[in-house]
Amino acid sequence: MSDEKEKRTRKPLGLKRAVDAGEVKQTFSHGRTNKVAVEVKRRRKLTKPGETPAPAPEAAPPPPPPPPPPASGASGAPKKKKPAPPSETPQERVARLQREAEEERLKLAEEARKRDEQRAKEAAEEEARQREENKKAEEEAAKQAAEEAEASAAAETALDDAESEPAAKKGEKGTVARKFTPVARPEPKKPEKKKKEDKRAAKDTGGGGKDKRRSGKLTVTKALNEDEGRRARSLAALKRAREKERRAQGGPAAPREKQIRDVVVPEAITVGELAKRMGEKGADLVKELFNLDMMVTVNQTIDQDTAELLVEQFGHNIEKVSEADVDIDTEEDVDPEETLKPRPPVVTIMGHVDHGKTSLLDALRNANVTKGEAGGITQHIGSYQVKTKDKQTITFLDTPGHAAFTEMRARGAGVTDIVVLVVAADDGIMPQTIEAINHTKAAGVPMIVAINKMDKPEADPDNIRNRLLEHEVIVEKLSGDVQDVEISATKKTGLDELLEKISLQAELLELKARPDRDADATVVEAQLDKGRGPVATVLITRGTLKRGDTFVVGTESGRVRAIVNDSGKQIKEAGPSMPVEVLGLGGVPSAGDQLTVVENEQRAREVAAYRQEKATEKRTALAPTSFDTMFNNLASNVIEWPVLVKADVQGSVEAIVTALHNISNDEIKVRVLHAGVGAITESDVTLAAASEAPIIGFNVRPNAKARELVKRDGVRMMYYDVIYHLTEEVAKEMAGELGPERIETVVGRAEVKQVFKSGKKDKAAGLLVEEGVIRKGLFARLTREDVIVSATTIASLRRFKDDVDEVRAGLECGVVLEDTNDIQPGDQLEVFEVEERERTLEVG
Ligand code: GDP
Repeated sequence: MSDEKEKRTRKPLGLKRAVDAGEVKQTFSHGRTNKVAVEVKRRRKLTKPGETPAPAPEAAPPPPPPPPPPASGASGAPKKKKPAPPSETPQERVARLQREAEEERLKLAEEARKRDEQRAKEAAEEEARQREENKKAEEEAAKQAAEEAEASAAAETALDDAESEPAAKKGEKGTVARKFTPVARPEPKKPEKKKKEDKRAAKDTGGGGKDKRRSGKLTVTKALNEDEGRRARSLAALKRAREKERRAQGGPAAPREKQIRDVVVPEAITVGELAKRMGEKGADLVKELFNLDMMVTVNQTIDQDTAELLVEQFGHNIEKVSEADVDIDTEEDVDPEETLKPRPPVVTIMGHVDHGKTSLLDALRNANVTKGEAGGITQHIGSYQVKTKDKQTITFLDTPGHAAFTEMRARGAGVTDIVVLVVAADDGIMPQTIEAINHTKAAGVPMIVAINKMDKPEADPDNIRNRLLEHEVIVEKLSGDVQDVEISATKKTGLDELLEKISLQAELLELKARPDRDADATVVEAQLDKGRGPVATVLITRGTLKRGDTFVVGTESGRVRAIVNDSGKQIKEAGPSMPVEVLGLGGVPSAGDQLTVVENEQRAREVAAYRQEKATEKRTALAPTSFDTMFNNLASNVIEWPVLVKADVQGSVEAIVTALHNISNDEIKVRVLHAGVGAITESDVTLAAASEAPIIGFNVRPNAKARELVKRDGVRMMYYDVIYHLTEEVAKEMAGELGPERIETVVGRAEVKQVFKSGKKDKAAGLLVEEGVIRKGLFARLTREDVIVSATTIASLRRFKDDVDEVRAGLECGVVLEDTNDIQPGDQLEVFEVEERERTLEVG
């Protein structure tokens, strides 16, 4: 048992999310995984589609040497010739123009050479080159003048054609070939030149009628001579061509400014995600890939090099990231010494139950928490800061004090600088005192012993000091180095001395953090709040967290919607060592998760998705029993009772898991496959279905998608709102004392549209029945953001002021719920029948 506990408690100390290095699997958008052998394809992809400018020149090594050199010289010229309008010089066009230019240049050079064989070869070539230069300038000027980003394809086509007219006579394309047959013989096809531009040109122009119109006039000489004149004409022609095209494509598209984006591309990415990042249509990317001879759907994954090709093709800038870059390693990011400023110490109070932890925290904070708790277990961590007399600030983390929460306490120690061990002077060293000592030692955190309840007559502080020796805690009074102080939480004595000692200890630790940077924080507690959605209490470890910051926390991403300080006030920002509540999370993280502010939402999503994938991998890897346990179980005939646990707060999760472990015996063991905070999700159901395990929902319900899966896969759901009921039932089931089973059948669902008064104190809810029927007298559950608000029955049901027995889907009605008035618009009402049936289900 204690071993088991140890194991559980040690785990959370490692707060960083593990990232298994060396894996090539990633997730880049919700749930999409990429398993791509990225490395190998790199170069090949670039060249294969014959897209890049590079292969073209190589592929055209015509015997006569003269053309190539001037050609290359020409490439730069046209770009500069007509400076782009300052408003827009899309790199896209430049890139494309360059490519086309090069292609054209080569074509022209060759053609000119051949055609003018009889005549002065050299002269012709030079002329051709010049011509082509001029053309390029024209095109560019034309394009820029037209400055229509989305019409770029059309522009290219037009350009292609316009350019090719004078000299080019490639036999590749029907149009082009036809145009020039009188002047030149088609040359053998060069595969490298089968650029997608050409393809697109062919497609888009659909025959290139306009080019034909002009082609008749063209001869090399004419073209050369008419250079100047043609420039103007071709510009106008271009505009016309584009307009025509636009009309053909369905009305005048409003000219849109093309946005050039910096597109972050990981080692592998789905086409859809890439399109999203580029701000382009997925279909356009697919088309482009098709042109590259790659048959890929939007959901398929492409490698980084292919993605790069696309990104450049669409005129965006690529920013490559590798696997290692995806996750955030805050440890690598060390702040320079000179930027560090002193920060308040973070203190955790530990000790055995009832030794006075809450009372001490309460006394220090001057608020009466103990009363509100009514002797119950502290279920939620509430942390706060206090100021000492000499204006020092100390942060206290409140960790629950029951054995069920050991795990959380251990997590608390991860961010804790100093532990205050509370020992009741009238009680002595108890099991949890020893546990606390061990955790503190394991974490290497200095400890201060607070001997509490000194007001009690039976208080014996020296006994405590001596007993502590047995656990190798030597207090100052016994010449050790552990500070000790006698206090009374209720009488508020010794508190200043305690704070002083904490300050002293903090000073020795020289605690520092850089405040002026993006924040890092650690989740102390997180929950799904009925009204506010996922909420996390975090402790800022460095930097300053600001409203509006984008962050990733564990496997969730989010944007800071609000920051609430320890006194419940909304604040704009929080600095190092401050405990604050953060709103705006995408989901509920786990206690111990790191919150890191990142530069943008895309990055946050990427990291979160990546971590989710890692987590799923880990979880599914853990799900099947290891050979060892399987073998042991076989040998010892242990029956395993697998289960998933989901609850509304971390505290409940821990409590349930511990409780479940406690009811395990030699014959049957509960095996918690997964436990977490928040609504029951699809992945929970999938895991449960695969393992034939029930899901325990404690104050939470499955979300809509998960519900479908529950139905489909027949996963058994066990809903509770009292831990005792849960353990009782599980224990009974495990012991074979299976009473009749309560079987719930959901008969209807409705959404609360409005809430109004009914009678003196009751509230009625105006509902829209979304599924099934609502019947009077049935059991009902009201949920808000998948958290159960109340379990009740339908007390009355009305439609247009008439009492009715049932209301079907699609209709509106009013209901009064038994014993509850906590209803809000947007709440979901689930109505179900309950049937008690003899169990047929066997444990195991
Ligand atoms: P926790 O379980 O460690 O959080 O302990 P609590 O703070 O809930 O205290 C347990 C009980 O001890 C409560 O009834 C407190 O009133 C009582 N208690 C706590 N501190 C003192 C103290 O200094 N003197 C006396 N007489 N009682 C105390």
